[in-house]
Amino acid sequence: MTEKKGHSSKRKKVSSSERAMNLRFRFVLTVFLIAAAVIVYFIVKLNSETQTMIRQNDRSAETEAVSGTSAISETASSSLSAAVTSGKKASAQKAEEAKIPAEKAALINALPDIDLDSWEYILVNRWNMLDETYIPETREIENVEISTEIYDALTQFVEDARAQGLSVCISSGYRSYEIQEQLMENDVEEYGEEEALKTLSLPGASEHQTGLATDLTDVYYEYKDESIEDTDTYKWLLAHCQEYGFILRYPKGKENITGIDYEPWHFRYVGKEAAEFIQKNGLTLEEFLDLYTLKEQIQG
Ligand SMILES: [Zn+2]
Repeated sequence: MTEKKGHSSKRKKVSSSERAMNLRFRFVLTVFLIAAAVIVYFIVKLNSETQTMIRQNDRSAETEAVSGTSAISETASSSLSAAVTSGKKASAQKAEEAKIPAEKAALINALPDIDLDSWEYILVNRWNMLDETYIPETREIENVEISTEIYDALTQFVEDARAQGLSVCISSGYRSYEIQEQLMENDVEEYGEEEALKTLSLPGASEHQTGLATDLTDVYYEYKDESIEDTDTYKWLLAHCQEYGFILRYPKGKENITGIDYEPWHFRYVGKEAAEFIQKNGLTLEEFLDLYTLKEQIQG
């Protein structure tokens, strides 16, 4: 803009010193304002990045501290003891500052006495990933592979639902690291990375790799979308899953805790005791395991 004006003033040969001064002043002012805007932009950006980093560190320290399971990838477990220590310190400080609310304290007191290192309680999410070597022993049930460990429980669950006249479909079970990788590549190609990550887990972050999760739909409504919750099949499955050791793994309103959108078809086996407790109290597996960490801290 200033340059244009400069040219036109040259062409017209109007070179009064007053006008030149005016132009120079405007030019300096413009440069100054741009510089100021750039500085402000970087200060704001740096600040928000630092805060995000702090939040992420908090989050990963906590979740890693919760799940000292053997299935975590080797790199993660090597840094686990450090993360556990720092995570515990951070959480303990928070617990002291915030004081554990009575409601939570009551939950902690009522926790079932279970061995958290047992296979039923393995936590897999975007913060606790498996590596490609994690391969469970599986067995086929209605054209779907699932962990051998849950074969009997799932068979009974589905049989009892069908005895009620419900048309249950076992839609998905065990998915290997490689298959998840392939699914992700296909989705990224089709929808772009951002969209793909909304509906699909990264390889290693999918609970299907454990063989302990199953997607249950209705033979007459196999679409995995929210309206599946209107089917009688879903209503019965949700009401009774805990009796067979299953939980609804990704409930509505807990997306920020599970890292996964609401999925009224994805059930996960955790054993009867844990399932009863989790479903009765409206918890996620993450929250359930967190309670044990808190319990440990309270009891020293
Ligand atoms: Zn699923």
